[in-house]
Amino acid sequence: MIPYGKQEISQEDIDLVNEVLRSDFLTQGPMVAKFESAVAEKCDVKYAVAVNSATAALHLACLALGVKTGDYVWTTPITFVATANCAIYCGAEVDFVDIDPKTYNLSTEQLRIKLEKAEIEGKLPKVLIPVHLAGQSCDMKKIHELSLKYGFKIIEDASHAIGGKYFDEKIGNCKYSDITVFSFHPVKIITTGEGGMVLTNRKDLYEKVYRLRSHGITRAAHEMTHSPDGPWYYQQLELGYNYRITDIQAALGVSQLARLDEFVSKRHEIANNYNEMLKDKDIIIPYQSPENYSAYHLYIIRLDLKKNRFTHREIFERFRSDGILVNLHYIPVYRQPFYEKMGFQPKDFPEAEKYYSEAISIPIYPSLTLEEQKKIVYRLVTPIGHQTIF
Ligand SMILES: *Cc1c(COP(=O)(O)O)cnc(C)c1O
Repeated sequence: MIPYGKQEISQEDIDLVNEVLRSDFLTQGPMVAKFESAVAEKCDVKYAVAVNSATAALHLACLALGVKTGDYVWTTPITFVATANCAIYCGAEVDFVDIDPKTYNLSTEQLRIKLEKAEIEGKLPKVLIPVHLAGQSCDMKKIHELSLKYGFKIIEDASHAIGGKYFDEKIGNCKYSDITVFSFHPVKIITTGEGGMVLTNRKDLYEKVYRLRSHGITRAAHEMTHSPDGPWYYQQLELGYNYRITDIQAALGVSQLARLDEFVSKRHEIANNYNEMLKDKDIIIPYQSPENYSAYHLYIIRLDLKKNRFTHREIFERFRSDGILVNLHYIPVYRQPFYEKMGFQPKDFPEAEKYYSEAISIPIYPSLTLEEQKKIVYRLVTPIGHQTIF
């Protein structure tokens, strides 16, 4: 069986996790802080707070930016549901901006049009959450420019994109956003089992996310309403959560992070192989804009439905019956029954709809062998009997 994505665990990873298991701290020990500073340094950002998932990271990011009932949060429909759910957790309303037909990221042109309209209606978003789909950065310069004009905040959902670059700068540096979020789920670029991170250059946001990760509690005297009653003292300043990550997980993160560049370059090697093998076929290979260096979390192809004789679904079934677990990232979020109820209409998102009818994520992860890559391509482009798919 070949999954679409898979973690890569080394003996060093196991050794470091083992060390934590034998130490004094399983959680809230030195590894979490070590992981945070290692990621912050790697991504050229001032502050990082590790949490137990990217979903938690998105929730805390929204709370830190003050998202609440009556606010609007916008994102792309081609993402995992967590990107939209975080706004609902805060009582806000979600809306979607259609995607760019080339990059499949949120379209900045559609964003501009939607903002113009929202300004007239008095319904401007408080926060926009662009998602760097497959690991390729959105057009952050343009998005940032629009944020200054219309006054919204930006959370980059970079769950796919640690290790990627935008104009030669690290994704995660928050140059064009308030906050960036990473996921460390096993299918992502590096893993901690479950895990996520919030990155920011703003001290106020950092302190708020840090407190909210653990019940809204502070032990820092300068954040308290009065001087501490004694050495035991702490204060709960607001309503937070238990979104802490363990030292066991953070150890895995520290060890994995050391191989981040290696993982990403292996993913590039596989993507280049696919590009080469698929270039003369009637398949749309992933467009890479010149300002980007993708982390290649996903390799998404699109079928030309006019040219092939099999349906999208038949091609999925053919792969799956061969043990190749291709996937579709993603079902447009507005199509989920939970969101459908809110009145979204597929016709309002023609590019996302077209994408949904054509896209397939074929396997990509560091240990995917050349033989497996060839087998996958073979399944895609070779004849069945005397018929040819493409
Ligand atoms: C994986 C993912 C998430 C959620 O990550 P978890 O760590 O599983 O909570 C959010 N957004 C995107 C785009 C993702 O791919």
